[in-house]
Amino acid sequence: MNIFKKAERLKRVPPYLFKQIDNKKAELVSRGVDVIDLGVGDPDLPTPAHIIDALEMAARDPANHKYPSYSGMNDFKEAVAGWYLKRFGVSLDPETQVISLIGSKEGIAHLPMAFLNPGDMALVPTPAYPVYNIATLFAGGESFFMPLLEKNAFLPDLDSIPADVVRRARILFINYPNNPTAAVADPDFFKKVVRFARDNDIIVCHDAAYTEIAFDGYRPHSFLETDGAVEVGIEFHSFSKTYNMTGWRIGFAVGNPEAVAALGAIKSNIDSGVFRAVQLAAIEAIEGDQTCVREMTEIYKKRRDLMVNGLKAAGFDMDIPKATFYLWVKVPSPYTSADITSILLEKAGIVVTPGSGFGDPGEGYFRISLTQDTERLEEAVNRLKALDFRR
Ligand SMILES: *Cc1c(COP(=O)(O)O)cnc(C)c1O
Repeated sequence: MNIFKKAERLKRVPPYLFKQIDNKKAELVSRGVDVIDLGVGDPDLPTPAHIIDALEMAARDPANHKYPSYSGMNDFKEAVAGWYLKRFGVSLDPETQVISLIGSKEGIAHLPMAFLNPGDMALVPTPAYPVYNIATLFAGGESFFMPLLEKNAFLPDLDSIPADVVRRARILFINYPNNPTAAVADPDFFKKVVRFARDNDIIVCHDAAYTEIAFDGYRPHSFLETDGAVEVGIEFHSFSKTYNMTGWRIGFAVGNPEAVAALGAIKSNIDSGVFRAVQLAAIEAIEGDQTCVREMTEIYKKRRDLMVNGLKAAGFDMDIPKATFYLWVKVPSPYTSADITSILLEKAGIVVTPGSGFGDPGEGYFRISLTQDTERLEEAVNRLKALDFRR
């Protein structure tokens, strides 16, 4: 008998599809190949200095060394509510409608534990951030996968979900601006989502990690701007992408008070809140000068244009994203996502993410992250042009 025999929930985790790429990359690096990694969704830019200063000061204050409150400091929750009002015109009660998170991933992962019983279903987009499905499985639930297809502008087709699935569904996950497709959602889609959720008693969980990274004058919406959204939904936000704070582990959830309270009840039995100094730095991030966000967006826009033009010149095809720091590029025929990923790595030393790794309907695409400086991206473009996928 193996004493480390895994629990069923761990056995249900799908295999890590990027392991092969990671191994191959490590092998190339060890051979001295100059690998350009366009795979990871982790900003290369540093956290703005004024935010680091705020952390430094706060970290020196012994009052901040104690256990924080479970749901977040009042000042933090008020800052979040203030930002929502200013940014989205959405008014929130800081006490009952805002909760701090140890990164939005943590909150998203815990939400199904608050609402799913064994056998309940969650409606999960695919391709997608893997957490929605895995958190559903961990909670004992089952995922119904909603394909995100180009013909539907990478929005789920709610009308096509079978009635028996809708009856069993308790949570609907959505994510716009979207990772990995870089698609955005308009207010009409959110209206449809609210109607669907109300008609079928389903909680909407909107992952809004990329609302602040948008281009050409486009301003992504909060789901909570939609009439009736607060009656059915909870929205997750992150400091990770907006302020280059992936390593700091802070995010928040806002919206329906019952959803926020239930998530808080799970969390208070698992973690003990976010380090107060990190919360104080996060307050500085959203209440301080937002020039850093505009500058960051400008940098991503330049990279986007460079990469879109370069990829097109090299024979690739893709939509020009209005938001996020990803490009969702079509795989040229006759290749598969896995083929192109291997070819780009072996022949050009470029790491990209195969679309199929985010779910089956991602086959036929690969994802590029714009998280390298323009010099490295230019080098990547030159290598791609040398391969020449034009026909
Ligand atoms: C990066 C990302 C997050 C943010 O995760 P944190 O835990 O806040 O760092 C959430 N959702 C998606 C889709 C992401 O790409």
